[in-house]
Amino acid sequence: MTVVEELRSVLPRDRVLSDPAELFVYEFDGFTIARARPAAVVFPSTTEEVSAVVKILAKHGVQIVPRGSGTGLAGGCVAFADGVIVSTVKMNRILKIDLENRVAHVEAGVRNTALSEEVAALPGGAVYHFAPDPSSQRASTIGGNAATNAGGIHTLKDFVTSNHVLGIEMVLSDGSILNCGGQNGCCEDGPFDLPGLICGSEGTLGIITKLWVRLVPKATDFRTMVATFTTTADACDAVSDIIAAGMLPAAMEMMDGAMVRAVEDAFHFGFSKEAQAVLLIELDGIGPLLEWEMSKVTAICETRNAAKVEQSSDPSRRAALWKARKSAFGALGRISHSYCTQDACVPRSNLAEVLKRIAEIGLEHGLQIPSAFHAGDGNIHPIFLYDDADDSQVQNTLHAAEKVLKYCIEIGGTVTGEHGVGVEKLHLMPYLFDRATMDQFQRIKSAFDPQQQINAGKLLPSDKVQVQLLKPGRHVPQ
Ligand SMILES: Cc1cc2nc3c(=O)[nH]c(=O)nc-3n(C[C@H](O)[C@H](O)[C@H](O)COP(=O)(O)OP(=O)(O)OC[C@H]3O[C@@H](n4cnc5c(N)ncnc54)[C@H](O)[C@@H]3O)c2cc1C
Repeated sequence: MTVVEELRSVLPRDRVLSDPAELFVYEFDGFTIARARPAAVVFPSTTEEVSAVVKILAKHGVQIVPRGSGTGLAGGCVAFADGVIVSTVKMNRILKIDLENRVAHVEAGVRNTALSEEVAALPGGAVYHFAPDPSSQRASTIGGNAATNAGGIHTLKDFVTSNHVLGIEMVLSDGSILNCGGQNGCCEDGPFDLPGLICGSEGTLGIITKLWVRLVPKATDFRTMVATFTTTADACDAVSDIIAAGMLPAAMEMMDGAMVRAVEDAFHFGFSKEAQAVLLIELDGIGPLLEWEMSKVTAICETRNAAKVEQSSDPSRRAALWKARKSAFGALGRISHSYCTQDACVPRSNLAEVLKRIAEIGLEHGLQIPSAFHAGDGNIHPIFLYDDADDSQVQNTLHAAEKVLKYCIEIGGTVTGEHGVGVEKLHLMPYLFDRATMDQFQRIKSAFDPQQQINAGKLLPSDKVQVQLLKPGRHVPQ
């Protein structure tokens, strides 16, 4: 029997795709530069079905590639080397919501916002939510959020996904089922924090099938602020000053002038199109303290030459503000064929010089690079605009992006704040980590997946699957 025939012996026919026309949409994720057609895509609906699928694929020596909604921005769920994609989207049941203990048990394919919506609909549930809020949250899965250790707009105060995952069920590369942590977190887990290790492993250790996650109280009182600046440097310095003053806003996001104009043209929120930078700040807590914090933040922005600071406590204005921010990447679709979102973390105090260097690299490569990013976390997202029908533009973009990331490493930063390494940043891992650390990472991978069966060639270099996106040579347009 062929692999596909065997897969059809354990799953219904409509849950095993192998027709090239059906496979086309699974050739890439949100990082559209890395493309490969999978040999098949399967849609198991239970842990037992995932296990049966994995056993078949392992027996045939086929690469196994976990996939949630495919919103990843690093090529992590693309199946190179004729791999088979194991999608979790049919595993979308919310198994338990326990408000008393503030936990939920979910299958890996549950969408991020679906959980908070279901919680809010329960008696007494309106005050709780699942806090990680990547801008993709209406589409991305909780399994994918855990695998990438996703952040989001409110990461500054709420932290990343791993801080909200208490337990994980995962199918390993031999089809066995690992259960670690649980509703009480890693105190159930023995000596090592295995859920913590699995979060951020980008599907290279196994396929997450179920998760126990925290539900936390939502902010009840808040203030949102929009501070408009005439230079990016002033906005960046305001961010550093606010944190240095001992405050911890719930969110502190920045859009540069090019991004503000793209978002305003698309969504008409009311941002000034003359702005060179806009800071979106949210404070939460209790009323009188909020008023004091808001006046302090306003004073800092004004000291850093803010042209205007808008303050609001209106929930609909707040919702519109975050909708505009979360739609920022989408707004670029109106002005560019393709875009590549980069993701690095730098010390907050270096933000101004990093944005300056990105602008220089844009000029050197003849590229437009608008930015919308989590300024409070020092997590930058320069977005490279290009046309993916033109290979020289693709290569030019990759070379420029590499320059930006290497610069971020040189000044003490790292190559990913939240989107992960995937295949996109793989070549930079040895540049970021020393030999001893890389060897230790490989030993961890081998302990879970000795045959390099699951998502090899992502996150860590592999001798089994190698993907080269960057072609050597000069690709800057003359
Ligand atoms: C418009 C837009 C905005 C975004 N904003 C943010 C943001 O604010 N913050 C942020 O962190 N990210 C953001 N992202 C990136 C992306 O949405 C996140 O990385 C998200 O967590 C991916 O979830 P997914 O279900 O789409 O996973 P996929 O893209 O399907 O997979 C991502 C990685 O996780 C692995 N994986 C997926 N499911 C499993 C599983 N069940 N078990 C094991 N491995 C698995 C895959 O193999 C792959 O390596 C954004 C993306 C887009 C397109």
